[in-house]
Amino acid sequence: MPDMTSAARPGHNRGCVFDESARRIKENARWLAGGVSSNFRLGMSPGPLVFERAEGPYLFDVDGNRLIDYYLGMGPMILGHSPESVRRAAAAQLERGLLYAGQCEVEAEAARLVCTMVPCAERMRFASSGSEVVHAAIRLARAATGRKTIVKFEGHYHGWFDSVAWSTAPVADTAGPEDAPLRVAGSLGQDDNAGLNTEVLSWNRLDLVEQRLARGDVAGVIMEAAMCNAGAIAPAPGYLEGVRAACTKAGTVLIFDEVITGFRVGPGGAQKHFGVTPDLATFAKAIANGFPVAAIAGRADLLDLFAKGVLHGGTFNSQPVAMAATVATLRALTPETYATIERRGRRLMDGIRDVLAAAGVKAVVTGFPAIFHVAFGLEQPARNYRDLWAMDKPRYVRFTTALLRHGVRALERGAWFMSLAHDDAVIDETLAAVAAAAREI
Ligand code: PMP
Repeated sequence: MPDMTSAARPGHNRGCVFDESARRIKENARWLAGGVSSNFRLGMSPGPLVFERAEGPYLFDVDGNRLIDYYLGMGPMILGHSPESVRRAAAAQLERGLLYAGQCEVEAEAARLVCTMVPCAERMRFASSGSEVVHAAIRLARAATGRKTIVKFEGHYHGWFDSVAWSTAPVADTAGPEDAPLRVAGSLGQDDNAGLNTEVLSWNRLDLVEQRLARGDVAGVIMEAAMCNAGAIAPAPGYLEGVRAACTKAGTVLIFDEVITGFRVGPGGAQKHFGVTPDLATFAKAIANGFPVAAIAGRADLLDLFAKGVLHGGTFNSQPVAMAATVATLRALTPETYATIERRGRRLMDGIRDVLAAAGVKAVVTGFPAIFHVAFGLEQPARNYRDLWAMDKPRYVRFTTALLRHGVRALERGAWFMSLAHDDAVIDETLAAVAAAAREI
């Protein structure tokens, strides 16, 4: 049994220190590049943390801190950390084998659940990461249309592969004009050629999409249907519908990247929430509550191209333990689960807004109750990526660093992920920490 004594002790977190984490990261950097296995775990303030275990809304680190967690694994832990139903399902499958290089019934059941829940999902395939399924979606779009060009949008993140890691977080100096943004590389070593068929547009501007697609040579348009990687920006009224119509007219494949929104903003993701059905959609994160599972779903005629010459592989795809976790997660995502997360998430959003206002901190809180964003320094909600340039990022980092000392771990880029395990008492404790941190900055 995990030791919950520290969790039961209110006030335990005041003045958390992270010296032991810092020491171990430095030591482990002898073996692990930068001390971590993903760049997104680098550069955090005061530094990357080392954890011993996770339970419900809490992380427990090697310094003995109990932290209320709003990273939630960067999104997957929709039911909270280590939920019993998911653990039990995975443990039962562990007894039956780890990898078959063949099919199993739990995989078929997971696929059936995805196709039942997601509007566009006539057919689907599993993979192991969001980056991979984006890659697969782009390949399908090109194969189906016989065209090369993919349109993506500024500030939208679709994984770290060469073809899509463009203009995910460009700065004003190098981004070019809003009507014709420049394509800005996301990494050293990125293949320029891989970007030649990737064009970047400003999001939430229907005129730009219509103009570009009218040329009739675009294979696919990929977007986060609501921006969650940069800010939490809603599509303008009519925008998604307009893009849908323009894609249909031009014979272009519309791809919604629902790696964050899928199974998080509701059972059918952003597409169901906004009532606009793409041709293809990509999923990962919340689909399996922490297990490495991703999915591509969409029109049957597109997915069936995988059996007609379009290559999609992956040794670990539909790994049976992860499939058992997927089935358990999707079964737990009932209407009651979403209603509870939404009610509490809304309370947290409203609470943060009120507490910051009372402390005289100018901030805008936007998004879904299950994934929202706090932007310091904005007067009104952002409409596209460029509006976020006005955010006071250094102050927000001081805020999350102060929050961490008060026992609350929230992403420095402003995103807050909610889970079913974050109950009203946890939200109360979070808001007290927000008030204390706001006073300190
Ligand atoms: N698409 C979106 C919208 C994402 O948020 C992410 C990950 N943050 C990815 C794709 C890539 O997923 P992964 O990290 O699993 O490769």
